[in-house]
Amino acid sequence: MFESLTDKLSSALRNLRGVGKLTEENMADALKEVRTALLSADVHFKVAREFIERVQTACVGQEVLKGVAPGQQIVKIINDELVRLLGEGTNELSSARPLKVLMVGLHGSGKTTSTAKLGKLLKKRGYRPFVVGCDVYRPAAIDQLEILAKQEELGFYSDRVSKDVPAIGAAGLAAAHAANADAIFFDTAGRLQIDSDLIEEVKKLRERIKPDEILLVADGALGQEAVNVAKAFHDALGLTGLILTKLDGDARGGAALSIKSITGVPIKFVGTGEKTADFDTFYPDRLASRILGMGDVVSLVERAQENIDQKEAEKMAEKMRKADFNLEDFLAQMQQIKKLGSMQSIMGMMPGMSGMQIPDDAEDQMGRTEAIIKSMTIQERRKPDILNGNRRLRIANGAGVKVLEVNQLLKQFQQMQKMMKMLKGGGAKKMMRQMEA
Ligand code: GDP
Repeated sequence: MFESLTDKLSSALRNLRGVGKLTEENMADALKEVRTALLSADVHFKVAREFIERVQTACVGQEVLKGVAPGQQIVKIINDELVRLLGEGTNELSSARPLKVLMVGLHGSGKTTSTAKLGKLLKKRGYRPFVVGCDVYRPAAIDQLEILAKQEELGFYSDRVSKDVPAIGAAGLAAAHAANADAIFFDTAGRLQIDSDLIEEVKKLRERIKPDEILLVADGALGQEAVNVAKAFHDALGLTGLILTKLDGDARGGAALSIKSITGVPIKFVGTGEKTADFDTFYPDRLASRILGMGDVVSLVERAQENIDQKEAEKMAEKMRKADFNLEDFLAQMQQIKKLGSMQSIMGMMPGMSGMQIPDDAEDQMGRTEAIIKSMTIQERRKPDILNGNRRLRIANGAGVKVLEVNQLLKQFQQMQKMMKMLKGGGAKKMMRQMEA
């Protein structure tokens, strides 16, 4: 996400870094480029104009024009302005317990998925989440919610017969209380457009359940259209926060950059992929540094902390140090990595890697590797040396792959083991020498 904006901003700033001294002239050129970059990322023109004006004022105020380390200083100013634009202040959820969250949004925005994602996130934070399906028009939406709730082990309630949304909400609330839940989400129906029926229905539900948060799920890939949708929902319902989805893929960033300053509603979470782990608390400063091409390592580490079993990770590290790492460990480690979310969303957080394309079949390949290891017996996983031709054939058949793939995996694994042994023998230098050879 935001690759193109990042590229254009970097190039505008690179030109400035080169100059020894900032003058009004070269500043004006660079800021023109920054403005073009914002506009082509689909940032609202008023927002872009105001942004440039503020950067200009800040530069003058800080006497950058007199010229001490100009490049760095201007990056800092632009970074600060980006943070302001993305929304300073609170993006925390209400601290009410039980916490009642009304989820609204247009059809296809990612509302049901985000409900489950948020439930999963809060569960990690120690809540007991519960979801209530209130989309009486699409039984499939209720099914989808139920499947996700099962998968993430969240409480669930719905009524597939009744069409009385406020009554379903009230019954859901009672069920959640009975289950001792303390974070309750109401997934409402979406429409293709905002219409008065939809708004009326949500208002009645709101009256009944008295939510602490009304979160709009908006499709970030829609750019300015998402901003319009947010404005309309906010005028009608009084939103407390936004969840911007689909910031992976082609999202140019315009929605994320304009939505707070146009609507006044803070972005609280962002969706960055289809998996339930592809979801992050929104931090303006981290996104700003990501947009400026500096990555977002902090979010990556947090995701790891939330999704990876720390004890398990330490055990693995120890095994690697001792070069006592077998295929069983390899499988366990792959399963841990998968919990971090999709490859694309992980890469987006690494400095300088946001633009890198992951091959489409990367996740497929991981799945095949997993299938191969799973087709081995425990003994084979622990002592891959015993894998003769017959065993390899049996494994390939079991995993539905060619023997060649089994052989490749074993070869890769052997190389990995060799490296670990070398490192263990204090052989980092030896290894470098070998790599040079
Ligand atoms: P709803 O109609 O608003 O409830 O939307 P759904 O939750 O059913 O989502 C619609 C589609 O968008 C599904 O295919 C989801 O997997 C997908 N989706 C949701 N959030 C994201 C996201 O952050 N990134 C991507 N790439 N897809 C998403």
